[in-house]
Amino acid sequence: MDWSLTILNLVLVIGFYEGFHGYLYFRSKGVKKEGKIEIRVLNINEENAIALNSLFFRNVVVFLSDKINERILRHEEGHINQFNYIYLFMIAVAALLPINTLLAIPAILIGRIMLWKMERDADLYAYSKYNVKFESDAERPKSKIDRIKAWLFDSHPPDWVRTKEEYYEKKNSLIKLFIQDLFS
Ligand SMILES: [Zn+2]
Repeated sequence: MDWSLTILNLVLVIGFYEGFHGYLYFRSKGVKKEGKIEIRVLNINEENAIALNSLFFRNVVVFLSDKINERILRHEEGHINQFNYIYLFMIAVAALLPINTLLAIPAILIGRIMLWKMERDADLYAYSKYNVKFESDAERPKSKIDRIKAWLFDSHPPDWVRTKEEYYEKKNSLIKLFIQDLFS
C-alpha cells in the first residue's frame, strides 16, 4: 500500500474542510454570544446559516444574511451539539481510498444517508428542545424524478418533507419517509 497517497488524501480533505471553515470564520463578523455559541454574520443576502463544527472552528454559527433567524439558529444549534461524524467518515474514506478506488461508490451512498440523518437530527433537536419546526411554502413536485433529485442533491431532506407532521415523529425513519414520498 502506498502511504504517500493516503497522507496526501488526508491533507487534502482536512485542509479543504478546515480551510472552508476558517474562510467562513475570518470573513464573518462576530455579532453576539448565546451560551457557548458564537453568532457571526457574513452577509451575502441569503437566508441561511452554517454551523462550524470542525477541529479548529467549533461552536460558531455563521449567518449568511444580517437577519438572525431564530428557527435557523435552533437548527444550527442542533448541528453544534452533534458529533460531526460525516467529517470523521470523510477522513476515513480519504485514508482508505488508495486501497481501492471503487470504495468511492458505497462511500457516496453512505455519506448521503449520513447527511440526511444529521440534518434530520438537527431538525428534531430544534423541535424537541424549542418546539421549532422547519417552515417553507415549497410545493411538492408532481414529477417523481424531480422529487428524487431533491432527495439526492439537496443537503437536507426536501423542504416539503421537512414541513410534514410525520417528519417530527422520531419513529418514522427517513428511509420510510423517502419511500413514502416517492410512491405516494
Ligand atoms: Zn442543517
